Amino acid sequence: MAERIGFIGLGIMGRGMAANILRAGFPLTVWNRTPGRADELVAAGAQLASSPADLAARSDIVISCVSDTPDVEAVLFGPQGAIEGARAGMLMIDMSTISPQGAQQCASRLSERGIGFLDAPVSGGSEGAARGTLSIMVGGPSELVERAMPVFQAMGKTITHVGGHGAGQTVKLVNQILVVGTMLAISEALVFAQASGVDLEKTLAAVSGGAAGSWMLSNRGPQVIRRDWRPGFTIDLQQKDLRLVLAAADAVGAPMLATSTVFHLYRTLQAAGLGHEGNHALIKALERLAGIEVGQPQNNS
Ligand code: NAP
Repeated sequence: MAERIGFIGLGIMGRGMAANILRAGFPLTVWNRTPGRADELVAAGAQLASSPADLAARSDIVISCVSDTPDVEAVLFGPQGAIEGARAGMLMIDMSTISPQGAQQCASRLSERGIGFLDAPVSGGSEGAARGTLSIMVGGPSELVERAMPVFQAMGKTITHVGGHGAGQTVKLVNQILVVGTMLAISEALVFAQASGVDLEKTLAAVSGGAAGSWMLSNRGPQVIRRDWRPGFTIDLQQKDLRLVLAAADAVGAPMLATSTVFHLYRTLQAAGLGHEGNHALIKALERLAGIEVGQPQNNS
């Protein structure tokens, strides 16, 4: 019989991930801090829990996808947290991006109660969450990864067991260094293209399939030139990831030249009240330096 899944956190990512679990045929219970966000999933057949504790009592595997390390601690260990409804033999999987140390602490607190834990952060954006094509980076024991595999396969295409507890989060931070470095290069390139007067649509068409192509360029480049700042991933959450990267890099003594530049550029955008915009709005920081605007606004409603 399929394991009963409980899903905590129905934000931009969690909503699509939970919908794919339901579509794959797992019995699903959901909980979200802001209850209205569960309506669509409940209409599609999910059960609604009254708290993370209630959700855990009705589930064999609990998945969380919330914002930051303290938020994961709150939904697992806070008042009415999942641990209050949990029993030995359950598995908890955190798919948020949090600190590797935070993930290791969750694992050891849960193991005291006989509960398994995996850190399994994701990449692939809101599009990947909706389409079930996420990359999932998993840290934890092999037997638990094997147990979780059918549910991972409902949400993702590339599922990689990268090491023990915390390793999934470390690899996710590697991913974020690559993402923001790429976004900085895209921003710089499009400011140059605009300043030089070439057609931006044709420029993207010409370079996207070549050696400079990337997911960020194909998915966010067109949004930038349309000046569509709706978030697949907000600046505030991206900045949270960069804070985690810089702390982890400091601990191992790795220099972070591009990443720290992007961290400070995003900080200027947050100070300007743009933290809710998509991470591709990074270009606005360079536009301010250059004194030009890239692309044309369109009707994005
Ligand atoms: P989001 O749309 O802002 O959603 C955040 C979710 O976490 C919401 O359901 C929110 O509940 C819940 N939450 C936050 N703090 C909470 C707390 N203290 N207690 C209970 N619930 C809490 O964020 P998202 O884009 O889905 O991202 C979720 C996670 O995935 C983050 O760790 C992010 O870094 C990671 N991620 C995101 C992307 C992306 O492209 N968006 C890609 C890869 C990984 P409310 O609805 O009540 O606010």
